[in-house]
Amino acid sequence: MTASQPIADPFLSVRGLRKSYGAFTALENIDLDVARGEFVSFLGPSGCGKTTLLRAIAGLDPQDEGSIHIGGRDVSKAPPSERDFGIVFQSYALFPNLTVAKNVGYGLVNRSRPRKEIAERVAELLALVGLPDQGEKFPGQLSGGQQQRVALARALATSPGLLLLDEPLSALDAKVRVRLRDQIRDLQQRLGVTTIMVTHDQEEALAMADRIVVMNHGVIEQVGAPSEIYGAPRTPFVADFVGHMTFLDGVLAGPRRVRVGGIEFTVAEDAQGSVGAPVRLALRPETARLQGLDDATPNRFEARIGELAFLGSFCRARLEPTGSSGLVISADVPANAMRDLGLAEGDVRPVAFPPDSLRVFPGAPS
Ligand code: ATP
Repeated sequence: MTASQPIADPFLSVRGLRKSYGAFTALENIDLDVARGEFVSFLGPSGCGKTTLLRAIAGLDPQDEGSIHIGGRDVSKAPPSERDFGIVFQSYALFPNLTVAKNVGYGLVNRSRPRKEIAERVAELLALVGLPDQGEKFPGQLSGGQQQRVALARALATSPGLLLLDEPLSALDAKVRVRLRDQIRDLQQRLGVTTIMVTHDQEEALAMADRIVVMNHGVIEQVGAPSEIYGAPRTPFVADFVGHMTFLDGVLAGPRRVRVGGIEFTVAEDAQGSVGAPVRLALRPETARLQGLDDATPNRFEARIGELAFLGSFCRARLEPTGSSGLVISADVPANAMRDLGLAEGDVRPVAFPPDSLRVFPGAPS
């Protein structure tokens, strides 16, 4: 497992965090640093512990062990009110009987700020989230996307050091989601507020975050920039969870050589183990090449096109390498290439996967 690289002078620092519910361990030895102004996403399947970690950072569900520092202050045992964060939940959680303006100004009223200052700040925030004329409405009179923007304005009202977003987009429909995703990212960049967003949606994490924390079963599997998580997954779990991946069982055939069935692949990375060691080769479907191949193209083999699934801008082809019965590999073929190649089910075509697109993981011992 790979923990976060330490960051000099992090805004948020988590060390050795542990949390159990009875006999069930929800978080195990979590170490994480988040830089000032960074947008970090906690990504993982349902039940992996991402909300538990967010709530521990907020002090809403304190950890059993470990420490949390926010802005250089040890808040490990501090109540939520002393942790300097604003939070947005999946379910908006607005007060239905208060106007939008009163919802946004709620935290400022609690802090006994002067009425004029509150009115100005509320107007500023509503303009910031693109709802300048909606202050007198009640939450029930707004769409889901608008309500979530009010929740965002409310979370930002006290200018917190840390913005926590717990699946803020998952209750919204697809188009609104994408629009609000861009708006949140834009707002976060303009304000420079350190932000953590919990999501189980990989596309959301890839599109929005500076760094992604991939979690599984209460531990951090990998922390990295979206391109790193996608292009250089460190574990089979990350490879499988983020994006689509074909895994093939094979053996090491030499330095940077992996044999799978009747095909010998050249890989760019040094795989661990001696010749004959079992490995799992991981191939991204979009790295398949079907055009411009010649005899010198590495990792070129013949495959039968078993099935073509139309997915809009591309087709996902089921490749069945000839001479390696039982092997199946996914390949994504862009619409243009489909047209140029005149690809049809049952065709036998040359295919190649560039060596630097392949990942090698240790295989199960036979
Ligand atoms: P989801 O995307 O489904 O919200 P998650 O990754 O956010 O998943 P958590 O809510 O952090 O998951 O929960 C992690 C694990 O801890 C789950 O197995 C959950 O059932 C368990 N858990 C969470 N809260 C409690 C609780 N109050 N009591 C007992 N178990 C809990």
